[in-house]
Amino acid sequence: MSHFSQILVYPGEYKNPQTGKMHKGETNMGGFMCFSWKDFVSGNQTPDDKINLGLHEFGHALRFNGVRGDSTDYFFENYFKRWLACAAKEFMKMRKGLPSIFRQYGAVNINEFFSVVVETFFETPLKFKDYFPELYKHTSILLNQTFANDGSLILNCREELMKQDASELSSDFNGAIHYNLRYNGFMVMSALFFIVGFFSLSGQGYKYPPPYILFVVAAVFWFYLEKKYTRITFHKTSFTVSKGFLILKGAHSKTLPLSHLISLAATYEYHTDNYGNTLKQESSAFITYYRDGDFYEDELYCEFSNPKFEQLCEELSNNFVHIFIKD
Ligand SMILES: [Zn+2]
Repeated sequence: MSHFSQILVYPGEYKNPQTGKMHKGETNMGGFMCFSWKDFVSGNQTPDDKINLGLHEFGHALRFNGVRGDSTDYFFENYFKRWLACAAKEFMKMRKGLPSIFRQYGAVNINEFFSVVVETFFETPLKFKDYFPELYKHTSILLNQTFANDGSLILNCREELMKQDASELSSDFNGAIHYNLRYNGFMVMSALFFIVGFFSLSGQGYKYPPPYILFVVAAVFWFYLEKKYTRITFHKTSFTVSKGFLILKGAHSKTLPLSHLISLAATYEYHTDNYGNTLKQESSAFITYYRDGDFYEDELYCEFSNPKFEQLCEELSNNFVHIFIKD
């Protein structure tokens, strides 16, 4: 946790100079942590009351380090979205004041909820697993450790747990997303160099530079555009990310289990015509996915066909893919 360089330890509860209130612990975005040693020790001495000051504050530190640290826990920061998609339901329930196995303090905000989940994970893991198997699994993946049924701790289990994840859609959702080749700078440059090259070749004007150089430049722009052109197709338990539009089409296809899809952020862009009517125009989406120890983000140039796309989002969301739609 490179962002944190100092831990202040007080004998007991201490007065925070900024708030003037008595505190038991604090994890500050400024890069330090504080503990009341009395409460730190008592948190550890009662192992199953789901109150553990040390685990609670280090839960915050893990989260803040993901946001601020210079050498962050790369996996944590990226996978956290999927954890959020899974945690949202119980968190919202607690916000409404409904009872939960997590202590009520978790309803304060999502950071407190995460820390309260961490306390519960280590203090009463098997009960947690019983009540919320999915949230337990995603917390295990995030923390890269899990408890076996006999209560023993298993470390470095992240990849294995992701493999066991059986995310599934009800159908393959063909046609929910239509892809289009977005009019952009690379396309314009490619066309421009090609046209100039063509005139140069046919000798009707531009003799220099030689046309083959212009064609090569046009091709470089075109290939770059195609490399950026991403499509995603959904199957029942997996998804395929493929690149290319014309020449590179299908060249870099990768099929991954659905559990490796972290998030889908979609934007609808509205357009007003000359008569003041609102038309739905091009849309775009960003997908984040995990592959071989790394996370990738790709932009999709596409249109969504509703209601199929909305159904797809709902099902992905049920499988804890983080969905964000802006219109
Ligand atoms: Zn807290």
